[in-house]
Amino acid sequence: MRNQASVEMTTEQLESWDREYVWHPFTQMKDYVKEKPVIIENGEGVILRDIEGNEYIDGISSMWCNIHGHRKKEIDDAIREQLDKVAHTTLLGFSNVPAIELAKRLIDITPDGLAKVFYSDNGSTAMEVAIKMAFQYWQYKGYKNKTNYVALQHGYHGDTVGAISVGGIDIFHSVFKPLLFKTFFAPSPYCYRCPHGKDKTECMFECLKDLEEILSKDSDSIAAMVMEPLIQGAGGMIVHPEGYLSRAKELCEKYNVLFVADEIMVGFGRTGKMFACAHENVTPDIMALSKGINGGYMPLAVTLTTDEIYNAFIGDYGEQKTFFHGHTYTGHPLACSAALASLDIFEDEKVIEGLQPKIRLLKERLERFTNLNSVGDIRQSGLVAGIELVRNKETKEPYSWEEKIGAKVCFEARQRGLISRPLDNVIVIMPPLSINTSQLNRMMDIIYESIETITEIN
Ligand SMILES: *Cc1c(COP(=O)(O)O)cnc(C)c1O
Repeated sequence: MRNQASVEMTTEQLESWDREYVWHPFTQMKDYVKEKPVIIENGEGVILRDIEGNEYIDGISSMWCNIHGHRKKEIDDAIREQLDKVAHTTLLGFSNVPAIELAKRLIDITPDGLAKVFYSDNGSTAMEVAIKMAFQYWQYKGYKNKTNYVALQHGYHGDTVGAISVGGIDIFHSVFKPLLFKTFFAPSPYCYRCPHGKDKTECMFECLKDLEEILSKDSDSIAAMVMEPLIQGAGGMIVHPEGYLSRAKELCEKYNVLFVADEIMVGFGRTGKMFACAHENVTPDIMALSKGINGGYMPLAVTLTTDEIYNAFIGDYGEQKTFFHGHTYTGHPLACSAALASLDIFEDEKVIEGLQPKIRLLKERLERFTNLNSVGDIRQSGLVAGIELVRNKETKEPYSWEEKIGAKVCFEARQRGLISRPLDNVIVIMPPLSINTSQLNRMMDIIYESIETITEIN
């Protein structure tokens, strides 16, 4: 049997083929090939095991998408059951059973007013869909000049060309500038480094006034505002002040601009509610979901929208009003069946209710981190947090990029049995929602010790 060969592959062979053939995403390969790679072979619950049998807590939920842990029986079974029927067909002009059921269930649980589900297969494509949908909507409505977007600095919406056009992280996006379409950027409500130099007690939402200025001047040319509700993930786990989301949405209504909520990271319980928009009773015009949608099992994404937008695309065949978008693996039956199983688990195991004590524990455990000299800011929302490390606590002077301080802390954590990946100088805490309290305590011990070792003892 062919895969016998892979079973027999030695650690040395795998490591050398990894270095020789695999180009890893968002990774400086010059450094990567010098280090011993962590090659995961299996996992269970929140634990991952590498090919040498070392165990790690999955502290980043396998890139922010795992919810119920690995090898969750109900999801494994659902995929196998669907596999016995059919693996993949197409949603282009045809339908499939799990995609239909999932669409209905998503409409039931997402904010009222969202009425239609458009499938794709990853977060970036869900945002491409959102961007194109908003654009085409206005074209059909007769607002031909609404061709630009407004987004937030430090925002992240994926890596395809449309998604990076609305992305606000310079280090990821600036090299592509000549390829990108025009986007207005409003300041991020990044309170620790307030764009207006205010502290929380004197905040008058000045950053919202900047947004309003853009909208009041240029809304004739703006199709949509795009933002991550409550917390900007890849930009550094920037938790927004309460009220920012609902006020931004109100401004969009006032100036006739669509509001696109990118819930790709925060959706499915991460912030302590099923969806972040629910914290401020916001119904976006368009909402993108992906990472947690099927518990982190398979590529799947959706872009949800209202009847108002959907209806603008309805017309006689001759009018050619079709939404011109669709991927080969759109609405994949295996991925949708995994998503249905994940939603069942949310209900059966009362996942959201069960989160509250873990969220409180995380908050308690984070308080102690203020003792560390390098900890400038601690930001938490639900079961996700970011710890921003700084060279100087008083002046908030950041560590330079070259110091790779976040990477060093995470490397240290790995030696102690935690898989973690920083965002520059921000240490990310994002375990699967299913983590238990002793594992969460262990994770926080490791992170504390690792920061201490790298920034204070060395
Ligand atoms: C991860 C992420 C994306 C992109 O999703 P991919 O599946 O990696 O393409 C978009 N927006 C946000 C907020 C994300 O966290």
